[in-house]
Amino acid sequence: MADCIFCMIIDGRIPSAKIYEDARVLVFLDINPVVPGHTLVVPKTHCRMLWDAPTEALEACSAVLKRVAAALMTGLAAEGLNVVQNNGAVAGQEIEHVHFHLIPRYRGDGFKVPWPARPYPEGALERTLAKIKAAL
Ligand code: 5GP
Ligand code: ZN
Repeated sequence: MADCIFCMIIDGRIPSAKIYEDARVLVFLDINPVVPGHTLVVPKTHCRMLWDAPTEALEACSAVLKRVAAALMTGLAAEGLNVVQNNGAVAGQEIEHVHFHLIPRYRGDGFKVPWPARPYPEGALERTLAKIKAAL
C-alpha cells in the first residue's frame, strides 16, 4: 500500500531498527516505546485488521512472536511481557496494517493497561455468547 507507513518500512522507504526479517515477517523497535524494547511484529502482506489477514501470515507472525518474546525476556532481562494487538480506531489502532506489540515489563515500569472489568447484567452473558456462536 503506497501510503502505509509499515509497508514503507517493509520495503525500506522508511528506516527502522530491525530485529528480525524473513519472507513473511518483519520485526523492529517501536519508535515511541511504552517501555524500552517495545517491539512490533508485522506481516509483510498489507492487511488492515486481524480478520483480514491471510492465515499463513498470522501463523508466520505467531512463530516469530514467540521467538522474539523469548529474546526480549532474556536479552533485556524482562520480568514479564504484554502482547497487544489493536484493530480499529476505537481500539487504539493508529497504523492500519496489522501488527503485534511486544512490550517487555518490569516492576515499577509505570505502564498500566486500563482494564475496567465489570460483571454482566442479568442475562447479558447468555445473549452475548449466543451472538458470537451464531457468527462463528
Ligand atoms: P497502533 O496504535 O496502530 O496499534 O500502533 C502503532 C505503533 O506504531 C505505535 O506504537 C507507534 O509508536 C509506532 N510507529 C508509528 N510510526 C512509526 C515509525 O515510523 N517507525 C516505528 N518504528 N514505529 C512507528
Ligand atoms: Zn501496509
